Amino acid sequence: MDFNLTEQELMIQTRARDFANKLVKPRTVEIDRSGEWPIDLIPEIANLGFFGLQLPIEYEGAGAGYKCYVLAVEQVSQVSMAVAAIIAINALSEEAIYRYGSEEQKQKFLKSLAKGEYTAMFAFTEAATGVDPKMIVTTACPGGNYYILNGDKTFSSLAPGAGVAVIYAKDETGRITAFIVNPSSKGFIIGKPLETMGLRGSGTCQLSLNDVSVPKENLLGKKGEGYDILLSSINVGQLGICAEAVGTAQAALEMSLDYARKRPVQGKSILQLPTIQSYIGEMASRIEAARWLTYRTAALKDEGKSIRKDVAMAKLVASQAAVDVTNMAMQIHGSYGYTKDLEIERLYRDAKVTQIYEVVSEIQRVIVATSLIS
Ligand SMILES: Cc1cc2nc3c(=O)[nH]c(=O)nc-3n(C[C@H](O)[C@H](O)[C@H](O)COP(=O)(O)OP(=O)(O)OC[C@H]3O[C@@H](n4cnc5c(N)ncnc54)[C@H](O)[C@@H]3O)c2cc1C
Repeated sequence: MDFNLTEQELMIQTRARDFANKLVKPRTVEIDRSGEWPIDLIPEIANLGFFGLQLPIEYEGAGAGYKCYVLAVEQVSQVSMAVAAIIAINALSEEAIYRYGSEEQKQKFLKSLAKGEYTAMFAFTEAATGVDPKMIVTTACPGGNYYILNGDKTFSSLAPGAGVAVIYAKDETGRITAFIVNPSSKGFIIGKPLETMGLRGSGTCQLSLNDVSVPKENLLGKKGEGYDILLSSINVGQLGICAEAVGTAQAALEMSLDYARKRPVQGKSILQLPTIQSYIGEMASRIEAARWLTYRTAALKDEGKSIRKDVAMAKLVASQAAVDVTNMAMQIHGSYGYTKDLEIERLYRDAKVTQIYEVVSEIQRVIVATSLIS
């Protein structure tokens, strides 16, 4: 792997930074406070080509690869993890359709997703699932040319503006099967966004599926292949979460340096205190390690390799770094960091979700260990 970013990678990084600073930054606080999904930013993200960075040109993507995807997510996450998550969570469903969809499905849905004509949500999680697909109770029963879906999903992000939903349900044989569903279908009800602690504004909602008719040609992959589709596509979502974690931690470091430089204690800046320098040194080192593990994992994916173990390692390390770095940043900011006047408390809240969503850290450790044992 080349440790220097290519011209294309540098260009995408710059574009993402400019977009985040000009169009997202003025909105970050409001998105977090209101928890409202910033739907008007979708065309802006689409114009930049960020919904199709990793997809091939034949499907309206940029053909730029997964490393460019993580570079863009990282830069946007430095300003707003919620907006970065729009790119990352959307990429998960794109991956499912790209790897498992029929040519017709790719023409019909993937091209529109890559162009940002609409975004996609995925709905695996239910009240009792955790990561156990056996606990899914949503059903998909065949009837004529349709499957009829019934059940309740929870924690479905990007729901308010989604043009397609990848829904995981138990088919009539009891196996998990994936479907591409139009959220405007009769009986598809999207609840109000959940009041989450962080990542506010990512449109995370409950769904009710009441006799939702899905044309048989919208079955994604083979019958019974749903869990494999989820596991493979979630790796791309997790890559995005690694970048979210790195971007959030980097923002916390930069704010801490700035604050510490200006904050006087006993006639000198706190940045001159050994304890603060120790925090800064630890923060910068942890971020750099997480960043390069993320880039390396993306590079492996670009080479067509399986990243199941590598992305588990990267997400474990990057999410822990984000939680620890934002915690140290809070300490550097003292009482002021604990108020909503400064942004550190949002970074601290946002960081935590990276250890939870799209596979909890405990299971990431098991995935890494199992890959070494078996
Ligand atoms: C903001 C947000 C957005 C989300 N977006 C989506 C989405 O778009 N689509 C979607 O389908 N889901 C989404 N989720 C759901 C998320 O991916 C799941 O909540 C997550 O996988 C954890 O599942 P759980 O909450 O049921 O945890 P549980 O399975 O109940 O686990 C609780 C705890 O038990 C322990 N634990 C559980 N299993 C094991 C094990 N095997 N080994 C060791 N320890 C274990 C861990 O400590 C874990 O944290 C989202 C969640 C959040 C918070």
